[in-house]
Amino acid sequence: MDSHDDKKQRLFGTSGIRGKIGHAITSELALKMGRALSTLLGPGCKVVVGYDSRTSNHMLERALSAGILEGGCDVLLLGLAPTPLVGYATKKLGADAGVMITASHNPPQDNGLKVWNSDGMAYRPHQEEALEEIVFNGKFSLAPWDSIGKVEDIRHISKEYVNDLLNFVKIEPGLKVVVDCANGAASYLSPFLLRKAGCDVITLNSQPDGFFPGRMPEPSAANLQDLMRMVKATNADMGIAHDGDADRMVAVDENGEFADFDKLLSLIASEIGGCVVTTVDASSSIDMALEGKGKVIRTKVGDVHVADAIEKYNASFGGEPSGTWIHPDFCMCPDGILSALKLIALVKNKGPLSKLLEDIPSFPTMREVINCQESQKTDIMEKTKEDFPHLFSDVSESNLKDGVRLSLENGGWVLIRPSGTESYIRITLGGRTTEEAQEIMDKSKKFLGELI
Ligand code: MG
Repeated sequence: MDSHDDKKQRLFGTSGIRGKIGHAITSELALKMGRALSTLLGPGCKVVVGYDSRTSNHMLERALSAGILEGGCDVLLLGLAPTPLVGYATKKLGADAGVMITASHNPPQDNGLKVWNSDGMAYRPHQEEALEEIVFNGKFSLAPWDSIGKVEDIRHISKEYVNDLLNFVKIEPGLKVVVDCANGAASYLSPFLLRKAGCDVITLNSQPDGFFPGRMPEPSAANLQDLMRMVKATNADMGIAHDGDADRMVAVDENGEFADFDKLLSLIASEIGGCVVTTVDASSSIDMALEGKGKVIRTKVGDVHVADAIEKYNASFGGEPSGTWIHPDFCMCPDGILSALKLIALVKNKGPLSKLLEDIPSFPTMREVINCQESQKTDIMEKTKEDFPHLFSDVSESNLKDGVRLSLENGGWVLIRPSGTESYIRITLGGRTTEEAQEIMDKSKKFLGELI
């Protein structure tokens, strides 16, 4: 949860509600969210409920379900499930909403809730605000004794999910893949599916465990050292890793090298082609990779904004460099398991992965953060919008959707964006050479330094 409290009380952040158990996240909050959701939907509606592997999941699931039932809606219990399965089940079963209990890649002490629409798309900001309002004003409409909701077990739906995925992506069998599930929600499903697809699967951290004993749930290169070593040691063709709830997927090539986030995104986007959506923090690699093959739309950071733009532009694919990818022909929910299938199919047909990534055009990128006071952020960003573009004589496009992102005529780019959760401003940029990138970085830091 963000510290927006000084302005407007908020529960939802950039990706659902998240926070520390016993502080921001309690069973009381889950109960209220359940009541609020059934109040919003109205009696007689159906809500899918799933959770990842965290220690607090049963506690939150029971409280949330009690609130949903109390409001007169039915609970469709999915149990332990990756986020994409919640989106899929909600759509497939014609449910009115889905709730995933997860804190995604956050540390084990955290948990959270994310709500999904009947079409498998994340709740949009105005829907989240409607839920918040009911939670804050406490005006729940509770069902009388004779119309309290019922509970239905829908764990069988995972078989349909697996079958639908295998029909959606055809893979030639025979690839050797190491899968690291972070002891998270996809621990059973992802390896099972890949074996069914004909891969020779070696598992790592694939027993659900809320203490995350194998590694932290964030799929960063630093957390995936074991996977990188395992791919090399077993002579595997590639490695796949998920975050805690498996809406994300990242990869390791056959040499045990971590695949660059931006290059991996560009690889899959250029393979799909057409109109693709990405976020302002993606590098210019995707623009270069799509040249002559399609069009790139850039939106605010966050999978709900990507999904929104996919609908608006009728795009064929949407993805963030974090590995959160949406395949709209299957479902509007980001799906790390489907993403893994797509990448494996591509590597099997055209690999090896290192070669595919080598062929993706990319510039050196740089990232830095500049500390500032929380209260300074609005002022700094206003001045940045006004004055920053004038520092460059060759701006070909300026995007103000989320921070300030400038594209330069020579292919360089720079994004200045305030952090949503911490007290700093981020600078992310790329240049044709390291020298050019450094030049843009020096200019940007000097500019921000004078404002702070
Ligand atoms: Mg996630």
